[in-house]
Amino acid sequence: MRKPLIIVTGASSGIGEATARLLSGRGHPLLLLARRLERLEAMALPDTLCRAVDVTDRAALRAAVDEAERVFGPADAIVNNAGVMLLGDMAHQDPAEWERMLDVNVKGLLNGIHAVLDGMVARRHGTIINVSSVAGRKTFPGHVAYCGTKFAVHAMSENLREEVSAHDVRVITIAPGAVETELLTHTTDAAIRRDYETWKQDMGGVLAAEDVAEAIRFAYEQPQRLCIREIVLAATRQAA
Ligand code: NDP
Repeated sequence: MRKPLIIVTGASSGIGEATARLLSGRGHPLLLLARRLERLEAMALPDTLCRAVDVTDRAALRAAVDEAERVFGPADAIVNNAGVMLLGDMAHQDPAEWERMLDVNVKGLLNGIHAVLDGMVARRHGTIINVSSVAGRKTFPGHVAYCGTKFAVHAMSENLREEVSAHDVRVITIAPGAVETELLTHTTDAAIRRDYETWKQDMGGVLAAEDVAEAIRFAYEQPQRLCIREIVLAATRQAA
């Protein structure tokens, strides 16, 4: 029997890409979303629909989900992974940067939930996997707005889990520490980027995107009656 559809947002690099490859290898049809369509298509995964969707565009996200469900059947899970980290000191940071983080990391995540939740509740089956961060549990220098978005992801995930638990829908929060991906490259403050790279090197390296993908797979593949509420994972040498 064919496995059910899984949606991955932000699948064009890093954790999302690794998750897409892993779940495809487990036999799932996929809907992969990101702005860089060519990166999604370059993976050439079987039974996979790739769509250039900005998660801040609620209508486009919903339309892509509807299209994928017509092809592959109802979505059994969404991995709300798309995110941006634009670190900066609040006294100097361009407000456009924190607005972007709030739009993508918070509203984009809500858009992903919105696109699948009514169907999951009606079917009394499904899993929402939200990628937060250790920065959703504790604060770090230069992270004011980013931590704000990830604390929001933690809060929304836990509250949503309570809300839909009686409908047999699972909500899982994945909270990684530092992972080697493109995430830091979008921070415009060169000094913060440099300090962050030094921090990673001092730890002797950080998690690989595949490590986080494996945590996502593990949580998802538990029986539906079992909800792993949260996985926090980081390099052993990450003290913070
Ligand atoms: P990457 O920068 O490698 O990946 C981010 C992904 O998000 C890309 O696929 C990007 O695709 C997508 N994305 C960004 N903005 C949008 C948008 N508006 N609409 C759709 N897709 C978007 O970073 P990571 O893999 O590290 O990040 C994935 C998640 O993991 C994020 O939520 C991040 O906060 C979280 N995380 C990362 C950690 C780390 O240390 N790397 C630690 C803890 C959490 P495209 O540009 O093509 O749209």
